[in-house]
Amino acid sequence: MPRAAQQATHHYEAVWKVLSYGLPEAPIILAALIYTHAKWLQDLVAPLAPFFPYAVFGAGVLLGWRFHRSRLLFALLLVTLADRTLLYFAVGHDLARDRVVLQAIGVLLPLNLAALTLTAERGVLTPPGLARFALVLGQLALVAILDREAAGATAALLHTRLLPQWLFGWTSLADPALLAFFVAGGLVAAAQLMSPTQTGRSFAWALIPTFFGLSTVRPGNPGFSTFYLATAALILIVAVAEASYHMAYQDSLTGLPARRALNEALLRLGGQYTVAMLDVDHFKRINDHHGHDVGDQVLKMIAAKLAQVGGGGKAYRYGGEEFAVIFAGRGAESCLPDLEGLRQTVDDTRFILRARFRSKKKKEKVLTDRGPGQRVPVTISIGVAEKNERHTKWDQVVKAADRALYRAKEGGRNQVQA
Ligand code: GH3
Ligand code: MG
Ligand code: MG
Repeated sequence: MPRAAQQATHHYEAVWKVLSYGLPEAPIILAALIYTHAKWLQDLVAPLAPFFPYAVFGAGVLLGWRFHRSRLLFALLLVTLADRTLLYFAVGHDLARDRVVLQAIGVLLPLNLAALTLTAERGVLTPPGLARFALVLGQLALVAILDREAAGATAALLHTRLLPQWLFGWTSLADPALLAFFVAGGLVAAAQLMSPTQTGRSFAWALIPTFFGLSTVRPGNPGFSTFYLATAALILIVAVAEASYHMAYQDSLTGLPARRALNEALLRLGGQYTVAMLDVDHFKRINDHHGHDVGDQVLKMIAAKLAQVGGGGKAYRYGGEEFAVIFAGRGAESCLPDLEGLRQTVDDTRFILRARFRSKKKKEKVLTDRGPGQRVPVTISIGVAEKNERHTKWDQVVKAADRALYRAKEGGRNQVQA
């Protein structure tokens, strides 16, 4: 591939990476915003609109139950309770009282959603699950009590002087609720930065429509609260579906696409292409000498190098300590320098073994690529084959690459064979 085209590919991948942080949540929220502002669209789907929250709720319960996602189930419970309570109070109650209920929900809902993100999956009908139930019901009781209390006890909830009106005048939420959303958003975002997860990410995004939903409630008029809360639930559901897809197609240890993804990519290939099969040399020895954990860390570090292979090559974990790289649109000859570069990079990497600095239990061995310590030599062998007159089908190409890999091993390892 010419250099300019390669750079263009890199730019394209970088742009795509940035965009993918907002997928698919940002378009969902955008669509919801458009819907709430486009009267003609509302008229168009008017007969279907009432079913939307029920469809989302049904799908969510089904998915949460089948995939054992207790946090999704609890989020659905929270959102539904909030929605039903708002509807109950928004229709036919006096202004002061429904505002107090709205503000109480505005404080409790984001904090509860954040708490769900920051805790682990604990099941529903388990002791922690039942404790969560009790907590939710307790809060429901609290909201009911606040509703019956005198205005004095709840005046704090209605405070609106703290934040600039020109910025927050449009929302029905008062200071405490806004603060709760800021705190919840900050907590979830910080947790995401420290260790990103699909669940955390989706909960962070779901806070946005939740905020819109509560913000548009007006006295006597629930506005689009139900619609926005259902949109928040939809985001959480889509995230579960996405996470399942990732589990099937991504290797959890290395983060590379897995065998299933490789097979589908091979089926999609047309025209010219090259397949490289890679195998770690004497990997069993590394495992035997340093333990399985160190072996895993070696695989991770090799995978990181593989992901950066040049020439538009795409890396996959084939299984165990074997990897594959596909070069679409390229012959074997032109891929050899990139693969040779990869082999050299792994050979040059200083896999350093040292005791873990602070360890709770026993001293665990860890690998780094810098600092003093015992060096673990790691090399890889690579077999390459291209699609040509002899090997026209993808399985023939893969087999030919496997035979080349065998030759690389026979020839003394740490080499590329075509
Ligand atoms: P060669 O140079 O001929 O490839 O020798 P080798 O020792 O690498 O070959 P072999 O295929 O006999 O050994 C592969 C080993 O990789 C065996 C298996 O225990 C180990 N292995 C496979 N998957 C993993 C994994 O996910 N983590 C770790 N730590 N080890 C793995
Ligand atoms: Mg092997
Ligand atoms: Mg091996």
